[in-house]
Amino acid sequence: MPVTLVFATHNQHKLQEVAAKTGDLFLLQSLTDINCHHDIEENGTSFQANASIKSHYIFDQYKLNCFGDDSGLEIEALNNEPGVYSARYAGQHGNHEANINRVLKNLEGISNRKARFRTVISLLWNGEEHFFDGTVNGTIRLERSGTDGFGYDPIFEPEGYTITFAEITMEEKNRISHRAIAMEKLLAFLKEVGG
Ligand code: IMP
Repeated sequence: MPVTLVFATHNQHKLQEVAAKTGDLFLLQSLTDINCHHDIEENGTSFQANASIKSHYIFDQYKLNCFGDDSGLEIEALNNEPGVYSARYAGQHGNHEANINRVLKNLEGISNRKARFRTVISLLWNGEEHFFDGTVNGTIRLERSGTDGFGYDPIFEPEGYTITFAEITMEEKNRISHRAIAMEKLLAFLKEVGG
């Protein structure tokens, strides 16, 4: 019997990506799968805190092994903003166009364009918390380029590339991204304890 493992997300796409890699080892379930329709408030001041809020909520309510993730963009010249406010930097949650505009405006005339995407995952495994993280370094372009991806992808050029995250293939992004790196670390741990 595979062990049930909850991914504290409603995003079916994220779930499928991880499920494809865990195979038969776990019965991977989303919040929707376990009938959790509560909007877990992410009011932490770090990615770690927000990831932890999600995994603890599920563990406290359902007593199931689970993990939660939180990601965002940190820009060096802006004191690591937008950080945990990445999704709502311009005020309205998920307004990527406005968020990008705010970043470009705040960076006007600033030559230090260094930035990084970060993901932190909190896993509660048999009641013990484990963290996994992933970072991808890069720079913020002066203007948008590319139409694929989401969020800040059109203005983020990963280190070692001359194109943005909105121009590289999805396969490539899924190989080098902050989320992919953190997920690989989580999967390595799960294979060890579950296999
Ligand atoms: P989440 O924690 O994965 O939901 O990410 C929070 C916010 O960070 C998103 O709404 C985006 O604004 C930004 N973000 C996270 N990952 C990415 C990415 O891979 N590309 C572009 N933006 C991202």
